[in-house]
Amino acid sequence: MPALPPRLVDALRAADNTVVLTGAGVSAESGVPTFREAQTGLWARFDPQELATPEAFARDPELVWNWYGWRRRLVADASPNPGHLAIARLQRLVSDFTLVTQNVDGLHQRAGSRDVIELHGNILRTKCSVEDAVVEDYAEEESPPVCPSCGAPLRPDVVWFGEMLPPGALEAASEATRGAEVFLSVGTSSLVYPAAGLPFEAIENGAMLVEINPDETPLTPHADYSIRASAGEVLPRLIAALSQ
Ligand code: NAD
Repeated sequence: MPALPPRLVDALRAADNTVVLTGAGVSAESGVPTFREAQTGLWARFDPQELATPEAFARDPELVWNWYGWRRRLVADASPNPGHLAIARLQRLVSDFTLVTQNVDGLHQRAGSRDVIELHGNILRTKCSVEDAVVEDYAEEESPPVCPSCGAPLRPDVVWFGEMLPPGALEAASEATRGAEVFLSVGTSSLVYPAAGLPFEAIENGAMLVEINPDETPLTPHADYSIRASAGEVLPRLIAALSQ
């Protein structure tokens, strides 16, 4: 695997503000498939990006609910991997730290990260598709179940393509990003906006931009350092170097 840039370790030691943005790639080593990888087995006939839309839910709520049920079980059975654990350690090693995630799996929190900004919601929560309120108790017989308050279908509390982000989440992420001296983009294809715009805000405000991803992305040419390896390999080595 590529060597860690020495300037990155120095910059992290000196930085007053560090922001980490993560995507599905950080959970890949926990066995939670990225959308691309999810096109296997039972669900091979479907394009996940086409199941993650309000239109898909309106067209076939049972299909979408069951697909999310399958993903929810995958997430519940998964454990945080060395990449998640290293990010939680990083929060304790640097001064001011913000973790922004596009993931909906809650694995960062289970690894010990605090105050995570979840841009795309959380698959373990369920909400009313009409009232938008989180619902905890509901009868599970139907797919999807119905809202105990208004009878509308329930849905996962995640942001689907074409929907607004949770109020305040993007603003908080953007504020932290504008103050960042080091910005790490980890395991994201950098294709889904507005999250993909955050690294560019960081660059405009003078941050050192570092990408960790085995593959090239549209962000790669703009990064100060692009480390082409998996999060689970690179991040623990970064923590080891910082702890020396
Ligand atoms: P993406 O699937 O578009 O891209 C994943 C990226 O991770 C790719 O660029 C890939 O090269 C990289 N990658 C794969 N394995 C990696 C590893 N071990 N270490 C580092 N990088 C690795 O995911 P995205 O950019 O997050 O955007 C897709 C959308 O789908 C997001 O909105 C997200 O909410 C949602 N999603 C979430 C989850 C989850 O919560 N785990 C899973 C799938 C999709």
